[in-house]
Amino acid sequence: MAELWQLTLHEARAGLDAGSFSAVELAHACFERIGQVEERVKAYVTLTENHALQQAEAADKALAEGRGGPMSGIPVQVKDLICTKGIPTTCSSRMLENFVPVYDATVWEKLAAQGAVLLGKGNMDEFAMGSSCENSAFYPTHNPWDLGRVPGGSSGGAAAAVAADEAILALGSDTGGSIRQPASLCGVAGLKPTYGRVSRYGLIAFASSLDQIGPVGKDVTDCAIALNAIAGYDPRDSTSLNLPATDFTAGLTGDIKGMRLGIPSEYFVEGMEPGVRDAVEGAVKELESLGASVEPVSLPTTEYALACYYIIAPSECSANLARYDGVKFGYSYQDTPDMWQAMETTRQQGFGSEVKRRIMLGAYALSAGYYDAYYLKAQQVRTLIRQDFARVFEQVDALVTPTSPVVAFPIGEKTADPVQMYLIDVCTLPINIAGLPAMSVPCGFSEGLPVGMQLIGPQLAEERLLNIAYTYEQATEWHKARPGI
Ligand code: GLN
Repeated sequence: MAELWQLTLHEARAGLDAGSFSAVELAHACFERIGQVEERVKAYVTLTENHALQQAEAADKALAEGRGGPMSGIPVQVKDLICTKGIPTTCSSRMLENFVPVYDATVWEKLAAQGAVLLGKGNMDEFAMGSSCENSAFYPTHNPWDLGRVPGGSSGGAAAAVAADEAILALGSDTGGSIRQPASLCGVAGLKPTYGRVSRYGLIAFASSLDQIGPVGKDVTDCAIALNAIAGYDPRDSTSLNLPATDFTAGLTGDIKGMRLGIPSEYFVEGMEPGVRDAVEGAVKELESLGASVEPVSLPTTEYALACYYIIAPSECSANLARYDGVKFGYSYQDTPDMWQAMETTRQQGFGSEVKRRIMLGAYALSAGYYDAYYLKAQQVRTLIRQDFARVFEQVDALVTPTSPVVAFPIGEKTADPVQMYLIDVCTLPINIAGLPAMSVPCGFSEGLPVGMQLIGPQLAEERLLNIAYTYEQATEWHKARPGI
């Protein structure tokens, strides 16, 4: 008999609806599991047990009265840059260590209104800048498959918690790969929706034209259910898309016959681990045997994506993070009568080194005299990258690539060399530049560590991506593998 904390969201849903267990029992089980492993994994910044049990009681009441919905009683971890009213939201930064939001982000407001139970807030790279969770100001999160390795980032807490069964579902955010890459490194499923599909209201901004919230789940069905719960128009986010509601589980047919899949050669990059290549190539063969047709395609602007991202993302970050000056909220250095000195010291002490590096890069790229050479140029390249994708999507329905060129690496291995760290995201960040949906699903192991396959679709093709991933999942067992922690 499986423990309750081992259940997927859809299994938990079935059990709750059948009355096999209560939401309170499920929440207790998750905290029991957290008690067993969290000391080693460190996937959470804050645990909200009392709050969770109250929400679980309310969910049980709603279920008993026939008012239950798809999320009633489901225990969720929320990344610590998504505002939760009355509950600290730190961005894993000293700057916001004591910040308690006075309002809920739309995504959490929606989940809570549908009966979800907040287990706690997920650890991350500070302000979502990083690929390993080592940039958290508090502590790194450890990969449940090998505690000496990183879980990926920046939503490392989300992926590690789901992989270690410390949460049934987690919400992450993805600016350049931060949902998909940790999902890949931890052997779970992660979906970055189309830009504008999910409201960013209450998401503490890193790079506003790239940021998007999405689910990290134990399988594809769970991601579809979660997307149903969080997607939709929000007048409080001016970039939110006003579309009719979609049921993302309805398209999970398990049939991909005739689907045209493109394999972009540029994503099988130099320096990619052979074990990763083998696993992804094996997955492509599997998709072919399930009835999809596979053809090589080319996205020639891919080689400029990393440089383009590392101009645009830092530029936007330098503007977004200007608000942390110690005046309105967050950390404030007060030990001087001089206002400028106070602001300077606040930022010096409040931000970690990667965040400062990004702010400096961005301020430089946006400054007079450099704007045309860097920022403007990057925006022009961004258009070319978008056009590249638009062109291949006239030819194929979706693209298949590795999510990350490497498996989880040892903690500390890449911290001294930022460029090595940036290179981990070569396969994921072009998708944010183009605003496309993409997801990562487990497709094998290399040296005992999970490998993820990335599926990329044209704008608003989430249903198609979910069905390809689901069909693959039905035919394979990778998603069932769990670390023996
Ligand atoms: N690793 C990338 C960065 O550091 C992407 C992070 C993210 O998606 N939030 O910018």
